[in-house]
Amino acid sequence: MTDINTAVGTDDPNIAIQGNWNFDYTYFAGATATRFFRELERKHLYGTRCTSCARVLVPARSFCDACFARTDEWVEVGPEGVLETFTIITAQFPGLPKPPVVMAYVTLDGADTALVNLVKGLDVTDLQQATDLLQSTPRVRCVFKDEPEGRITDVHFELLVP
Ligand SMILES: [Zn+2]
Repeated sequence: MTDINTAVGTDDPNIAIQGNWNFDYTYFAGATATRFFRELERKHLYGTRCTSCARVLVPARSFCDACFARTDEWVEVGPEGVLETFTIITAQFPGLPKPPVVMAYVTLDGADTALVNLVKGLDVTDLQQATDLLQSTPRVRCVFKDEPEGRITDVHFELLVP
């Protein structure tokens, strides 16, 4: 009889299991996220301030993720910020533009947490050249589309190339 610990040894290749998730859904954003998106419709970016640690959380949240205290003050942030990190996505994902696309974490001026969104307006045909430009450009600005709809896609980042 084979011992179960021997059967799952390191030389046993992993099996591959096929799967597929494909479903549509709708959810209610809640009061805080709804106001955040309403402000995007008006071409403003807002965060909320924690009543305990005083950090400004962006996107706006009802509770602080660090101390679990309520937030109670709305603070306008941006329109510029610090590019914290980024990735260049080369595979097609539902809801994203045709690849390659640049996704970045940006701490907007006046905020203490980073907002993730697309970076547009740079040439990504040469991935190394795009990476070099992103790594050497510490600041970005927010650009709103002409007719916002109250979605995160209303705004994107563009590099502030000196
Ligand atoms: Zn806090």
